[in-house]
Amino acid sequence: KAKEDGRNTFRFYDDKLDQDNVDKFNLLQRLRLAIKEQGFELHYQPKINLRSGHITSVEALLRWPQQDGSMISPAEFIPLAEHSGLITELGNWVINEACRAGARLRAQGFTKLRMAVNLSYVQFKNTRLEQVVQQALRDAALPASALELELTESLLIGDTDVIQQQLNALSQLGVTFAIDDFGTGYSNLSYLRSFNATTLKIDRSFIASLCVSERDEPLVHAIINMAASLGLKTVAEGIEDAATLQRLKALGCDEGQGFYWSAAIAETALITLINQHNNTPNNKN
Ligand code: C2E
Ligand code: MG
Ligand code: MG
Ligand code: MG
Repeated sequence: KAKEDGRNTFRFYDDKLDQDNVDKFNLLQRLRLAIKEQGFELHYQPKINLRSGHITSVEALLRWPQQDGSMISPAEFIPLAEHSGLITELGNWVINEACRAGARLRAQGFTKLRMAVNLSYVQFKNTRLEQVVQQALRDAALPASALELELTESLLIGDTDVIQQQLNALSQLGVTFAIDDFGTGYSNLSYLRSFNATTLKIDRSFIASLCVSERDEPLVHAIINMAASLGLKTVAEGIEDAATLQRLKALGCDEGQGFYWSAAIAETALITLINQHNNTPNNKN
């Protein structure tokens, strides 16, 4: 009987695995088609300077709208796009679209606004990323200093020489780097040097619990102090309430991002939002 149960359990997982593979295959087919037919959108989430309250930059986040009006979250399709290599083409589209949007927003009068783009390590493996970025900046007539690339620590696993060369070339263009989801990767801090980053984005998992448990406050405090002594700017991800905002201000965090101000929104809604936030006439940064 025990043996039978064992076998049944095994069959159950087996069937489930098959179903998972079918689901993945279907998703992959739809992903391929959506890339071909330009079925993606970028939405933009503002980053707020905690001292001035102004929106200083926006992060481009991929959205995949569906027939029924729903959206598939990037958390669901980015890993698949990475495994299949489709992220290269999709990522190139993101870079180009974000640069054009950045230029449009600057032309609206937000002349200091910066645009941030997320990059996957796979994009560094398959392409000359610096050429893609350089061409996108040129096509959009966006200055390199207006573009920030958000990278995660996972970038420095594996063939680091190739990646280091590309990071150097990108840096030469004048774009800047932010370390995304900081605190969730490896404790090896030497990558801070390799990235030549200007900004640390403190992962949402530390921010969300800041006013709930006492535990994470010393950690966030330490990250902010370390960043300051390294000359790096800090951005807190996932601020959802006023209490958390106040704590972060008190800890000396530079910028914040989160649902407290806004989720990622379409470009027209973003323009309205920036106008509300940065309403001092000569200060439309
Ligand atoms: P990320 O770069 O760390 O982006 C922040 C994520 O946190 C976004 O999720 C954003 O919507 C969400 N978020 C922001 N504020 C809050 C908040 O206050 N509360 C909560 N609960 N969530 C908040 P999203 O848009 O689903 O993106 C998930 C991840 O997918 C991103 O994490 C990024 O790693 C990846 N991703 C998104 N767009 C792209 C892209 O164009 N290229 C690549 N390679 N990855 C992307
Ligand atoms: Mg990001
Ligand atoms: Mg992040
Ligand atoms: Mg993240």
